[in-house]
Amino acid sequence: MKAAVCYEFAKPLVVEEVDIDPPKKDEVKAKIAATAICHSDIHVCMGELGGKVPFIGGHESAGYVEEVGKDITSVKPGDPVVVSLIASCGKCVYCRTGRSHLCSYMWPLDRESRAHSKSGQDLPPLVRTGTFAEYAIVHESQVVKIPADMPMDCASLLACGVITGFGAVVNRAKVEVASSCVIIGTGGVGLNAIQGAAISGAYPIIAVDVLDSKLEASKTFGATHTVNAAKKDAVEAVREITGGAEYVFVTVGNADAILQGFGMLRPGGMTVVVGLPKATDTITLSPLMFIKDEKTLTASYMGSTELQTDIPKMVGLYRAGILKLDELITGRYPLEQINEAIDSVVKGKALRNVIMF
Ligand SMILES: [Zn+2]
Ligand SMILES: [Zn+2]
Repeated sequence: MKAAVCYEFAKPLVVEEVDIDPPKKDEVKAKIAATAICHSDIHVCMGELGGKVPFIGGHESAGYVEEVGKDITSVKPGDPVVVSLIASCGKCVYCRTGRSHLCSYMWPLDRESRAHSKSGQDLPPLVRTGTFAEYAIVHESQVVKIPADMPMDCASLLACGVITGFGAVVNRAKVEVASSCVIIGTGGVGLNAIQGAAISGAYPIIAVDVLDSKLEASKTFGATHTVNAAKKDAVEAVREITGGAEYVFVTVGNADAILQGFGMLRPGGMTVVVGLPKATDTITLSPLMFIKDEKTLTASYMGSTELQTDIPKMVGLYRAGILKLDELITGRYPLEQINEAIDSVVKGKALRNVIMF
């Protein structure tokens, strides 16, 4: 099969023929139809999150079940599926209490490779997924069946970017009707936090970014107010509109933005960190602020998503015309042009670029 391999940090991916093993007993081999470029893939490929090379990136995908291990009964060859990095054992305390995204089971795929270069080198999948390739082998819990008429490009976005933003608002913060929400950063994840807030009935919904063009686009997803942080003090602007926000979602991976977000809160408010900062980033906060104003600073991993129940719900919202997915896709590229697709995301030209197979 063809795969885009990261052999060296901060260098273009190498698209080449590689070999892939059959799935083990509880694994699924998926034929990838669409895989979106997520900023986390880029951070890892740039070496910003540590780790080792080589590897095969990609974790925001959809495709068809090609082959299943002998213990698999939940899907069969030919089934259309979303392929995500969220794997769950179904047995631990998190899986049993509706928090399967926190499942800490160590999967064989976290340390083993199913793909190998023609010279015999192991090519492990990034975050046990590795969908920058024509096929990927994942644990059974990482695939969710979707309807046959669901477009694959839109379906791929559900695996990471959409659930991360939407779920931070809906699952983690559980935003109430008419509560004030601020979303810092209006990239792919930020726009999905905005549409999560809009679908939850929040008001006002304030988008904060440094580019007027992105702020304009955020209105399509439900932003009621916009603040250009390059032109005015974002904390003051939010305070003027809300008197202090009830919820702030920080979707950019930036320590200063987290502090800004915390400064925008009213007493009792909650800031949810969603964007991945660099491994070396730190923040300093006065503990007194937490006590006196009972503010909450928390985070949401993968939108605190219960993959098997949330993905079908989101497909339903999309098919009802409530959840916007088509509007998130900027470009579609073949695997051979994955480096161009990544480059355009790095330059801030794209919301989501999708590799189509
Ligand atoms: Zn992602
Ligand atoms: Zn578990």
